[in-house]
Amino acid sequence: MDVGIPGNEHTDQLARIGSHEGLPSDLKPSARELIAIINQKGYNEQDHKWSIYCADHNLPILTNPSHKINIYSPIKREDRAYSRMRLRVTRLHGDYYKTVLCPQCNIHNTFEHLFFICPKHAEQRLELSAGVIAAYKNPLIINRDSLLMPPSGIAPVVRLHVFKFLRDTGYLDKI
Ligand SMILES: [Zn+2]
Repeated sequence: MDVGIPGNEHTDQLARIGSHEGLPSDLKPSARELIAIINQKGYNEQDHKWSIYCADHNLPILTNPSHKINIYSPIKREDRAYSRMRLRVTRLHGDYYKTVLCPQCNIHNTFEHLFFICPKHAEQRLELSAGVIAAYKNPLIINRDSLLMPPSGIAPVVRLHVFKFLRDTGYLDKI
């Protein structure tokens, strides 16, 4: 044990006590230690969510490939697409720094065009609408808010339908 150097004594005390008892109450952790503790709690929570997700989707429990905290889906590309849409930083027209045209219609390919208008995706849109209306359990107009800002109780279900729409239309990696 490193006696006499305040920092080392501090670390030793943490290592001895912290591992099985949690943080001793009389010890003031450093900022670095606090960050490590917070990160670890986040990782644990993420692993927990990931295991539930695997069980729900009949996947074998895989090792979480990344400890990056995903908010909307443990699958990185889904999480990224949803985050970008919410923040309006997609590669669709209006969010992007360049003009983006729908390859089918040759007009501006906005979020609204993709999700609500483009005739090419009518079939996927019907499926999305049916799923989202069922999740809300009341008649509603499907719009940007109902897809991207759902109430927390039904948000996971609504997001699964949005992810499916993006996958089926080929936009999951283009958003
Ligand atoms: Zn179109």
